[in-house]
Amino acid sequence: MNISAKTKICMVIGDPIEHSLSPIMHNAGYEKVGIDSEFVFLACNVIVDQIADFVAGIKAMKIRGVSCTLPHKMEVMKYMDDIDEIAKKIGAVNTIVNDRGVLKGYNTDLIGAIAPLQKITLLENKKVALIGAGGVARAFAYGLTQKGSNLTIYNRTIEKAQELATKFGGDARSFDTLEDVKNMDIIINATSVGLDPNYNESSLPKKLITDKHIVFDVIYVPYDTKLLRDAKQKGARIIHGIEMLLQQGIAQFKLYTGYDAPEETMRNALLDHLNRKTK
Ligand code: NDP
Repeated sequence: MNISAKTKICMVIGDPIEHSLSPIMHNAGYEKVGIDSEFVFLACNVIVDQIADFVAGIKAMKIRGVSCTLPHKMEVMKYMDDIDEIAKKIGAVNTIVNDRGVLKGYNTDLIGAIAPLQKITLLENKKVALIGAGGVARAFAYGLTQKGSNLTIYNRTIEKAQELATKFGGDARSFDTLEDVKNMDIIINATSVGLDPNYNESSLPKKLITDKHIVFDVIYVPYDTKLLRDAKQKGARIIHGIEMLLQQGIAQFKLYTGYDAPEETMRNALLDHLNRKTK
């Protein structure tokens, strides 16, 4: 262990937080780049009522970077000294950088949402079904409409889909019309359906998936969700949830440390942890 009194602290906060893979991913990156004496990445359970105290603590303890997960991404915005334009437009901050006592909020979920898709397809004029209208769906809705995709947002609570469509663009639909995804190019599950321990639940009936689809599931535990297993069987191209976690983490790594993140090392650390390393 290379931690000393000079080591700068980064961390992820949330409630709950014990499931977070961010410390595994970032610390593996620090070690690979040889900066594990300069930086360490921890996790802290912070309840939403204590977010103001926590933010004061970031300044008092000179914590370098903070990743925010549920339920803090919106609440924390009130306490920032500055907020990046994209984070303002999305309406959520998942990354705080402490630059000599000035706290700036960013949103790297956008990169996490869009970069994995852009690695395999162009997004302009693509017909995209976004299933879900919660926090994660916001970054997709903003990013996809910015890239010129034709977005349809499906959600159990239709009002939330309508809210996103009004803010970012696209159409809002209820699950009754999911049949239409057959003719779309990309399907994204941004709901929590299929999350551990519900391995055999999916937000989309298998019969609606074809070999023309790209299917992206934001859930990363389990690694192969029911939706992705179904999509693979149907011959669709698939994107695993850890790709989103990884790409948003890579952007945070650069913001916190100034170094380029070692993508393969960080991906392998995640895959190792999920027991799915293939080589
Ligand atoms: P939110 O609580 O903000 O939103 C949850 C969404 O799931 C809502 O659209 C909700 O619909 C829908 N939903 C929940 N249960 C059901 C159900 N039984 N049937 C249909 N729809 C349902 O959560 P987030 O958007 O923050 O997170 C969603 C998932 O994304 C999490 O489960 C997490 O695993 C994953 N995640 C992945 C990340 C990654 O990097 N890959 C990062 C962060 C989260 P309704 O509006 O009707 O309630």
